[in-house]
Amino acid sequence: MKDIERFRAEVQLWLEANCPLSMRTPITSAEMLWSGSENVFLSEDQRLWFERMRDRGWFVPGWPVEYGGAGLSAREQRVLEQEMAALGCRQPQYNLGIWMLGPVLLELGSEALKREHLPPMARGTVRWCQGFSEPNAGSDLASLRTSAVRDGEHFVVNGQKIWTSYGNVSDWMYALVRTDPTAKKQQGISFVLIDMSSPGVTVRPIELISGKSSFCEVFFDNVRVPVHNLVGELNGGWTVAKKLLDHERAAMAKFTEGGAPSHDALAVARPYLADAEPVWRDRLAGVLMDGEAFALTARRLHEMAMGRQDVSAVASIMKLAQTEQEAAKYELLQQIMGQRGLSWDGAPFTDDEHHICRQWLYTKTYTIAGGSSEIQLNLIAKRVLGLPG
Ligand SMILES: Cc1cc2nc3c(=O)[nH]c(=O)nc-3n(C[C@H](O)[C@H](O)[C@H](O)COP(=O)(O)OP(=O)(O)OC[C@H]3O[C@@H](n4cnc5c(N)ncnc54)[C@H](O)[C@@H]3O)c2cc1C
Repeated sequence: MKDIERFRAEVQLWLEANCPLSMRTPITSAEMLWSGSENVFLSEDQRLWFERMRDRGWFVPGWPVEYGGAGLSAREQRVLEQEMAALGCRQPQYNLGIWMLGPVLLELGSEALKREHLPPMARGTVRWCQGFSEPNAGSDLASLRTSAVRDGEHFVVNGQKIWTSYGNVSDWMYALVRTDPTAKKQQGISFVLIDMSSPGVTVRPIELISGKSSFCEVFFDNVRVPVHNLVGELNGGWTVAKKLLDHERAAMAKFTEGGAPSHDALAVARPYLADAEPVWRDRLAGVLMDGEAFALTARRLHEMAMGRQDVSAVASIMKLAQTEQEAAKYELLQQIMGQRGLSWDGAPFTDDEHHICRQWLYTKTYTIAGGSSEIQLNLIAKRVLGLPG
């Protein structure tokens, strides 16, 4: 038997023996565990599944063993993903650190930063948030103004971030700060890691129309950040940020693709389809075909990445396509369900119907987070098609 087939057989056996049955059902967003210093498990099965996957290093199967990973090759990772999908295994945890910061630290972080931050991420004990956007610096991120001034072995940070998802429950933030106000705007930015429990950090949640309140404003008032928390070069933060954003787009395309909330929206809408005009069914068929085409393209890109081809620029296409498709799908479901797709809570509507309404609102945010659709189109024009800026 080939090594990879032997590996597949081992993975199948292990998953069968270790993934509790209740962890093999579609997950809702309320059931997702965002790992950090205060993990709250909704069931004993969830805790067991978390601990078993953690102890195998399978939160980060491709990371080197010395940083808490399992050191799997790209092919082995693919096999693990395939076997988890085949059994319907839930992701045991979610963490921005693992998706975005970890890969950047592996590539650009100092050895000391890797040893300090990667193992806790790999064990799901630290929650990270992203401190990029500021008032007047969203799409035009390079206009950010939060300042970091060197004072001995520290930077002193002052300013404000906004739209920081889950800033109120995060342990650490990776942030962009201005370290040279005299340089051209992209060239005066640095990338630093900030402990959210530092004196001078204030977090204020922002209420949202979707009923969830994951957004925060974060204020920095003379916050002292050790200089060794700098990732990459001083004033070289823009390069680090661009790499991180590529990982964010790839993660977002994957996340909405079904790596995560897999509540079956189409099953909820099915009863309404029986009475629906053919034109709605036709449009739904179009949505389903778009979904299939996306999945095939994602698989092709995965193969290219395994063949060590650079697919980072294409992450913009995947992010754009996936988030716009999700938004279009829920828009259509709403139209098919009519009034029943517009219920917020309470009888006579069902929880599934409320879910469609909330998700319809939420998909609108996907097309903004991680860079809006218009910004993705600009990036595709420049980085994929090679058009002038
Ligand atoms: C769900 C969600 C989670 C988020 N989480 C975080 C987080 O954790 N951390 C963080 O730092 N930020 C986060 N953000 C913020 C996000 O990165 C910004 O909202 C996004 O970059 C857009 O910036 P803005 O809101 O300032 O809008 P603006 O930049 O003001 O854009 C307004 C409109 O103008 C368009 N536009 C702007 N510039 C151009 C251009 N050059 N060409 C064409 N059109 C343009 C945009 O597409 C948009 O339609 C999150 C946002 C969302 C929705």
